[in-house]
Amino acid sequence: MATHKQKQPLALDNVIATIDVNLKTHFRDATPLERFMQEYNECPLCGTELLYTHVTNFVHGSVKEEAHCEACKIRTKDNSHHLQ
Ligand SMILES: [Zn+2]
Repeated sequence: MATHKQKQPLALDNVIATIDVNLKTHFRDATPLERFMQEYNECPLCGTELLYTHVTNFVHGSVKEEAHCEACKIRTKDNSHHLQ
């Protein structure tokens, strides 16, 4: 019989969730444009395509841009732009 069983480090007892990120694949030789497009379109946590909403206020001449991830239920962007 095996006498030594693997013991988990004590700190791991308190871990609720972990996020595995493969940085090597994520940033593999991506051009600055590819990185920008990926950052713009994908959730930084899970990579799911972000959903954008734009609310235009013609009185104040502004557009409110929000992006959120359906999978993580987080809002990742909240920007306002002036109409040109
Ligand atoms: Zn996500």
